[in-house]
Amino acid sequence: MQELIILGELVDRARERGVQTIVEGPGHIPLKEIATNVMIQKKLCKNAPFYMLGPIVTDIAPAYDHIVSSIGASQSAAAGADFICYVTPAEHLALPGPEDVKEGLIASRIGAYVGDMAKGIHNGELDLVMANARKKLDWEGQYAAAICPADARAIRDAKPPEDPDTCTMCGSYCAVKLVNEWLDDASQDVFD
Ligand code: SF4
Repeated sequence: MQELIILGELVDRARERGVQTIVEGPGHIPLKEIATNVMIQKKLCKNAPFYMLGPIVTDIAPAYDHIVSSIGASQSAAAGADFICYVTPAEHLALPGPEDVKEGLIASRIGAYVGDMAKGIHNGELDLVMANARKKLDWEGQYAAAICPADARAIRDAKPPEDPDTCTMCGSYCAVKLVNEWLDDASQDVFD
């Protein structure tokens, strides 16, 4: 809180001199304190854009801090944060490499997307595109709607199903395919 009070004073001093400000927030706070933190920052810093460092919402997951940070980022964005930090799996352990950076960026994009949906910046239109593609077992459509098409394609390609319409999760018991076939038969019965 003391930091936020000082940040608010610094925003005032900067603005008096015509300098733009963006305020950096905390990196480690519990989930339940995020919304209050954002609300107080907005008040003390007079709506200066708030940049949350995720935050990390638990410290028990080294090697998975990109996921922990994404959870915090979604809550921050939903509560009104304007900018979020990406965190890599190497956080607290080592200097990140290119693959760590990629995973961190994807995790933070997911957090931002979920938070923006909660805030009403978008209505999950991409989720609808994905749902429709899944219903049609349109795999190219699913890749196109995926946040990382290459990774989604690689996982499926690594375990190709016998029936290319389905995936190896349920194979010939693919519920989507069975329901689609049943609906096609049912609609034929109606029109016959
Ligand atoms: S096989 Fe199972 S998991 Fe895969 S598309 Fe069909 S219902 Fe979904």
